[in-house]
Amino acid sequence: MEIALSEADRAFREEVRAFLAEKYTPDLRAANARQAGVFAEPALSQRWHAILYEKGWIAPNWPKAHGGAGFSPVQSYLWETACEEAKTPSIPAMGILMVGPVLMGRGTEAQKAQYLPRILSGEHYWCQGYSEPGSGSDLASLQTRAVRDGDHYVVNGTKIWTTHAHFANRIFLLVRTASEGPKQQGITFLLADMKTPGISVKPIITMSGEHDVNQVFFDNVRIPVENRVGAENEGWAVAKYLLEFERGGAYAPRLKGAIGEVRAIAARESDGAAPLSLQADFVARLDALEMEAEALAMTEARMVSQASRGGSLGGWAPSVIKLRGSETLQRINELAVEALAHYAAPDQRSALGLGANVAVIGPEHALTVTARYLNNRAVTVYGGASEVQRNILAKAVLGL
Ligand SMILES: Cc1cc2nc3c(=O)[nH]c(=O)nc-3n(C[C@H](O)[C@H](O)[C@H](O)COP(=O)(O)OP(=O)(O)OC[C@H]3O[C@@H](n4cnc5c(N)ncnc54)[C@H](O)[C@@H]3O)c2cc1C
Repeated sequence: MEIALSEADRAFREEVRAFLAEKYTPDLRAANARQAGVFAEPALSQRWHAILYEKGWIAPNWPKAHGGAGFSPVQSYLWETACEEAKTPSIPAMGILMVGPVLMGRGTEAQKAQYLPRILSGEHYWCQGYSEPGSGSDLASLQTRAVRDGDHYVVNGTKIWTTHAHFANRIFLLVRTASEGPKQQGITFLLADMKTPGISVKPIITMSGEHDVNQVFFDNVRIPVENRVGAENEGWAVAKYLLEFERGGAYAPRLKGAIGEVRAIAARESDGAAPLSLQADFVARLDALEMEAEALAMTEARMVSQASRGGSLGGWAPSVIKLRGSETLQRINELAVEALAHYAAPDQRSALGLGANVAVIGPEHALTVTARYLNNRAVTVYGGASEVQRNILAKAVLGL
């Protein structure tokens, strides 16, 4: 599908492609080909971050006044698509896409001056402290407690599934500051330095064998009151504001990139008789997934078009994108595993990641397929689980 673009947008797309052709060098490409996590390892993502920062494109959606690229909705979509096509490293979302917009919308002037430039430069590497062992989908039930003591909050409790907490030097977190009334009341949004005494990080190794997520413990952690975003006990509104960004974004370019990879694998893998790319059953299933991706691309194009006119398709649209995008991605990953057949089985962990010098078992394209399949089992859980998205749609669209 080709959206009708203005001349200026076509020129922008060419500028983006020329930039990527020049700056996304073969060594960066080779390093990224060994990445299977949701976000690239910091040693790689921060190299790419620095290149985008120098160009002024590290924060495509931030206004220029705050140091962002100030891309229009169409430009942002073209940028994301071009990055997917080029397969650039995935930069962690927690700074640029999550806490940055929250600070712009809800932070004090001092907080904006302190944090926004450091998010842009990459000096601050953020992680998100929302979920707790008993509070995920039902986030408002969170129990990590903060008690006011003079100019500080004293925080006790634990957060879980905290992506890249072992790399981060800053965390934004939700804490309970009051227990009376509805559970959404009495929550406060805080910012903390990960080096604050009393914060400790314990790794969680996922089934792909990678260390991406953690449990973070807070033991009498003193956080200055000036690190509070929004009013005390009104953190739920700040959290909801952030979730709008977490659930937004494009999925179709990523799906199309993943389908392209399966097509390339299918052209080289056979069942002994003919390549999979010539087998009607396999091709039909891949084509069906491509139709899903095209349908999603059309919905995304409608969202972009509405946003360009200052409107929105409705609060339900991000839920449709998240639900269909994440579930389709998993089906594409499943087909990739099927196409690889026995080469999906070997444990390739020692050949993955920066600095790995172990040979891939089987063809080069076998390296990341199984790890991605395993890692992406989580895409229907984080950022609002599929069942939660269906609940949102049932209420917002069907009026149930
Ligand atoms: C890889 C990964 C990275 C993550 N990174 C972060 C991070 O950086 N920071 C952070 O704060 N959190 C993070 N999370 C946590 C994530 O946000 C939660 O896992 C998610 O909100 C679901 O919560 P839960 O795990 O407690 O599952 P639960 O909420 O207990 O859900 C269990 C199951 O019940 C279903 N369910 C729950 N409620 C309902 C309902 N009302 N109706 C129907 N079905 C329901 C769910 O859909 C799910 O299938 C991450 C999770 C993963 C897997």
